[in-house]
Amino acid sequence: MDLGIQGKRALVSASSKGLGLGCAEALAAAGVDLVMNARGADALEAEAARLRTAHGIAVETVACDVTSERGQAEVIDAAQGVDILVTNAGGPPPGLWSDWERDDFIKALDANMLTPIAFMKALLPGMMDKGWGRVVNITSQSVRAPIPALGLSNAARTGLTGYVAGTSRQVAPHGVTINNLLPGIHATDRADSLDSGVASQKGISMDEARTERAATIPARRYGTREEFGAACAFLCSQHAGFIVGQNILLDGGGTNLTM
Ligand code: NAP
Repeated sequence: MDLGIQGKRALVSASSKGLGLGCAEALAAAGVDLVMNARGADALEAEAARLRTAHGIAVETVACDVTSERGQAEVIDAAQGVDILVTNAGGPPPGLWSDWERDDFIKALDANMLTPIAFMKALLPGMMDKGWGRVVNITSQSVRAPIPALGLSNAARTGLTGYVAGTSRQVAPHGVTINNLLPGIHATDRADSLDSGVASQKGISMDEARTERAATIPARRYGTREEFGAACAFLCSQHAGFIVGQNILLDGGGTNLTM
């Protein structure tokens, strides 16, 4: 399917690995020029070079921490005038409700709520002026079905979800859509770190932890970054202009809901 977005330009934050990279690559394959970001410059430059060569697109890189004010300013500066925004950042650590202090919540809110909001505030006006734009926020299945050990993530991401529910309806008249993609377990470094938490908590191997977690998913496997990226690219396509303010689960059926 031709996504109809060749020649457009996108910012994908936190995109040197995992789900962010999956989104960047799927957009690149659709002919979209990119601004890519991550803290570590080596992986970022390597992936940017790979996407330029593989897809013949322009890629600008900004190596910085998007949760810092300075990092956000650098990324926003590089991304002026983008047509597409995909927001992403690392997820907060797991734990127990009693582990977390105010500073832990502030960090989680910065990463998974206030950073995407800052990007939307800065970049939506340009999209609205052009009468066309697409925003996809990478959140989590925990927004629909909170995961007890991910209290920091549950708290921050539901805040973002509430913001998007209202904002998406306010910008839709200008041809701009905002939607959230909610990953279940995908095979990325983040999944490895959660697997290793399960392994050490239960005294089992990483492989055993992975098998146990995969068995909880009706599809009986982890998702891939390529599948995730393809869904993101579709939401950013011409065909998705009537999809507004939705929270779309990509979880192999793991979240058992009727709606
Ligand atoms: P990942 O494989 O660990 O990749 C994270 C990417 O984000 C890397 O490129 C990393 O590069 C970059 N990054 C992290 N923190 C950053 C920061 N502060 N500033 C700029 N770049 C940053 O993670 P993932 O699995 O793709 O997960 C992406 C998001 O989806 C996370 O919020 C995660 O919690 C959420 N999620 C993932 C799953 C899953 O199963 N994978 C499930 C539900 C939700 P650097 O480290 O070099 O900065």
